[in-house]
Amino acid sequence: MPAAFVGHGSPMTAFEENPYVEAWKALGERLPRPEAIVVISGHWYTQGTGVTAQARQRTVHDFYGFPEALYRFRYEAPGDPALAARVGELLAPTPVAQTDRWGLDHGAWTVLMHMYPKADVPVIQLSMDRTQPPERHYELGRRLAPLREEGVLVMGTGNIVHNLRLYDRTGQAPPNPMAEGFRRTVQGWLREHDHQRLIRWTDLGEPARLAQPTPDHFLPLIYVAALQREDEAPEFITEVTEGGGVDMTGVVFGG
Ligand code: ZN
Repeated sequence: MPAAFVGHGSPMTAFEENPYVEAWKALGERLPRPEAIVVISGHWYTQGTGVTAQARQRTVHDFYGFPEALYRFRYEAPGDPALAARVGELLAPTPVAQTDRWGLDHGAWTVLMHMYPKADVPVIQLSMDRTQPPERHYELGRRLAPLREEGVLVMGTGNIVHNLRLYDRTGQAPPNPMAEGFRRTVQGWLREHDHQRLIRWTDLGEPARLAQPTPDHFLPLIYVAALQREDEAPEFITEVTEGGGVDMTGVVFGG
């Protein structure tokens, strides 16, 4: 099974047609049908590591000030308690809380509803421990590698550039040149399989701080890059910066 990272946007993408929504739909149609999906989202950044272990996922509406229709929307994918337990085994000795205190947040469901509109593929979310450095997240990502052999899609959802101060809600602002340069640099590291520089993205200094004021939306890419095999070139399914500060670039390994 390939591994994928997608750039997610505003929750309004649930009801939009645009080039990256088209790319998600095409990806869902093109990938081998997964047995199940493990999502790592920039919106579940926790103390310690957890997985959503319930039999049916709930739809988490983790945003404010959007139209009522968005709060009524449900993406009722099945959960997969056995897979949640399997992820716990793979990440050992790191403790993984089996929890029902989260479900699918908008980083997951606004993408999955386009990839798998019937909500018939079991999904779990894996949280990222906010107390750990990037090296640790990379190591945990590597431990998930057997899942690719087991027909499980590991999908990260965040943004290569995520700076809401640069963001213009009209969506018309041109990309910030320094932020766009950062995205190109990251794409280069993935082409060169240079995971060490990827993990140390903050070494770039100002462009890195501008692109990622906080690490939560970048770390999901680290998990997925950890699953890139030596012989796998990245395939970029979208290369769009929206509203100047949110980069929607998506990448697939082994697709
Ligand atoms: Zn987000």
